[in-house]
Amino acid sequence: MADLQAPRGMSDLLPEDEAAWRFVRDTTERVAGLFGYSLIATPIVEDVRVFARTSGDESDIVSKEMYVFQDRGGGELALRPEGTASVCRAYLEHGMASRPQPVRLYYFGPMFRYDRPQAGRYRQLWQLGAECIGDPSPAADAEVIELQHAIFRELGLDDLVLRINSIGTAETRRNYVERLQEHFHPHLDTLSRDSQRRFETNPLRILDSKEDAAHLAVLEAPSILDHLSAEDAEHFATVRSLLDTAGVAYEVAPRIVRGLDYYARTVWEFEPPSEDGEAGGQSTVGAGGRYDGLIELLGGPPTPGTGFATGIERTLLNMRERGVEAPVAAAVDVATIPLGEQGPAAALRLAQALRAAGLAVRAGAPGRSLRAQLRGANASGARYAAIVGDDEAARGVVQLKPLTADGDQFEVAVGDAAAAVRGE
Ligand code: ATP
Ligand code: MG
Repeated sequence: MADLQAPRGMSDLLPEDEAAWRFVRDTTERVAGLFGYSLIATPIVEDVRVFARTSGDESDIVSKEMYVFQDRGGGELALRPEGTASVCRAYLEHGMASRPQPVRLYYFGPMFRYDRPQAGRYRQLWQLGAECIGDPSPAADAEVIELQHAIFRELGLDDLVLRINSIGTAETRRNYVERLQEHFHPHLDTLSRDSQRRFETNPLRILDSKEDAAHLAVLEAPSILDHLSAEDAEHFATVRSLLDTAGVAYEVAPRIVRGLDYYARTVWEFEPPSEDGEAGGQSTVGAGGRYDGLIELLGGPPTPGTGFATGIERTLLNMRERGVEAPVAAAVDVATIPLGEQGPAAALRLAQALRAAGLAVRAGAPGRSLRAQLRGANASGARYAAIVGDDEAARGVVQLKPLTADGDQFEVAVGDAAAAVRGE
């Protein structure tokens, strides 16, 4: 093996993976379009402050996982670890608040996190996501959840379990967080290091600790749902009733939280069902939440927003486990086989004409024998070989040889080749 390899935790998308990736991307585009969402593509790098201000220095993403570097001008940049902050930065930068609200956007692209690589956890990970910015209503939450759900359903993942919760607003959470600290205080020694640290910095996130998921103190923690304000509770009830109307099944899961202050009210996750049919602690395939405080952290006016991110590698993993077949990518229609002196130029013009007619053409290898080129044409899966030698070039014709179906080689005028290949 060569001594140079892809960076640890990062991988190549190979031709054999293409069909599945194309299926996920096309499905995302199609379903997002059906919901009236437009594509946004932000740079893969951002001013580090886009993430430092929003996710905060204490967050895992910023404190442990972010790739930060100086460019040659001395500016501090970060490889984006997630999409929402960038989309909100773009919303502000382009004055999207003056467009009809809400602004509905979706994205599809790589994110970077210095995570510990293992199955379903990489350092370059791809996410698809959507943001609905400018609408504080429960309808916006229900819409993005329904969109995320619809994309999963179209990909054959309708058995993923949707778990939703409300974490109130930063103000209504304050009281609950104090209750939580009182609750965890006597159990501190038996909680993981991470949870001990979170006890000081962000007690809410103890509830979402992977290490302590089975700890009695976590299981018996007071529920945030008992500490919601009347408005929070009404918002949550409306989200649930809209999901009921839309036929989107969910479980209410009071231990799902988002650790950051900018999150408000609705939060959710999609998880694979566990063996016994209930959502377990397996890797989350997608997650989302309402982030009403985020745009202010970027220096904008208070602006409500809600959205989700789905991990594409984990989506593909779940599709493979369920044997979901992606539609096969369109094969090559014609492989040209140029021979002799004049064949190559004639074959090149033939390929142009066929492509202009919408047919996929694999160019042959001038200078190689008919036999060798036929072998390559067969291996490519092309339906026809188009043989063009000196004689054909002189007469303006081509020999079409069916490769994937029975039938004899036949001669057609170059101008009739596209129709012949189409079987017209
Ligand atoms: P986890 O708890 O698994 O670390 P997270 O809370 O960091 O996930 P989010 O920031 O909510 O994840 O990202 C949304 C989705 O992106 C996740 O549900 C997951 O599918 C995917 N994802 C996150 N981190 C990774 C990673 N390192 N490798 C692959 N996919 C990831
Ligand atoms: Mg993570």
